[in-house]
Amino acid sequence: MIYLDYNATAPVRPNVASAIMEVLGKPLNSSSVHSAGQQAKKLLEDARASIAHTLGAFPNEVLFTASATEANNMVLRAFADERALLVSAIEHPSIGKLGKLLGADTLAVDGNGTVKLDLLEAKLKALGQRKALISVMVANNETGVIQPIAEIVKIARQYNALVHSDAVQALGKITLDWGLLGVDMLTISGHKAGGPVGAGALLIRSDLPIRAMMVGGGQELGRRAGTSNIPAIHGFAAAVKEVAHCPDAKNWATWRDWLQSELLTAAPDARAYGTGSERLSNTLNISMPGVGSDTQLMNFDLAGVAVSAGSACSSGKVEPSPVLLAMGVSAAEAQNAIRISFGWQTTKAEVEAFATTWKAVYQRLAKPRAA
Ligand code: PLP
Repeated sequence: MIYLDYNATAPVRPNVASAIMEVLGKPLNSSSVHSAGQQAKKLLEDARASIAHTLGAFPNEVLFTASATEANNMVLRAFADERALLVSAIEHPSIGKLGKLLGADTLAVDGNGTVKLDLLEAKLKALGQRKALISVMVANNETGVIQPIAEIVKIARQYNALVHSDAVQALGKITLDWGLLGVDMLTISGHKAGGPVGAGALLIRSDLPIRAMMVGGGQELGRRAGTSNIPAIHGFAAAVKEVAHCPDAKNWATWRDWLQSELLTAAPDARAYGTGSERLSNTLNISMPGVGSDTQLMNFDLAGVAVSAGSACSSGKVEPSPVLLAMGVSAAEAQNAIRISFGWQTTKAEVEAFATTWKAVYQRLAKPRAA
């Protein structure tokens, strides 16, 4: 199989698998006082220190969770009562959908998928004395579009607003530096970066109190109860260390730009999204005119290629991507878009084979867009 769906999840990297296997059989509860517990505590704190060091944070700024979804939920739920929530229109559902439930206001994006800074500032101004929590991702999971986080932080500071950023898709694809980003909270996840499913983290300023969502034991300084998943966290730290300097990003950029140009040349009526913005080099979102993404996915699957229709759909029904809709793409066109995303095992030969397959499917199924 040619797997080009790394933005959904990545296979676990070999060094990460070895790291996990080293500790998997041990009884590791970091709250236990005996020596096995102390060993667990050491593994946990070493992982925390390693992730902090790699991303330019202090260890006490790393709070482990079971997933990015959990970290994102924690952030919005903790601040929803005391602050106005401003959430971009292109967030992952763990921010976007929850934001809607909690009454968040939406930050629009332009046609290139970038948050409109003038509108953000206008919304902050309109809040008057009420303070805000802004949540804008570092890079989008469907288009790869990278957001102007430094500018957002600069604006936020003028209005005493807090900034949270979901960096799940950015990790391992662009350099992430907690200090340079300047945000108050940052979400990352293990399994998108060649780590295991089951470990995520919220980087949070140590002077910023956050209410626990999981209540129980005193783990994570009382902010996240539940026995720490030491094997997953240990693997997560190994993955972060391996990918933080983005070892494959240059190759991806060459291949993605080649692929995009190859497909658009073969199908001039096809359209790629977010091309006017800086994008993650591993991601291409492109529509095939007249061919629904579900039909494309089936045809690609039969040809041994795994890609996805926008974000992974959990309901089994492919809806037009809210991200593309927010960028002003029509619902009919958005239905025809798929996401191709490269990762650590992707080869140039696979990208070339995918291009051949895409062109064959296009020749067979595409209908010209109505004039
Ligand atoms: N945030 C973004 C941008 C994502 O792409 C995803 C996964 O698709 C998540 C959050 C959720 O991550 P997790 O699977 O760790 O809950």
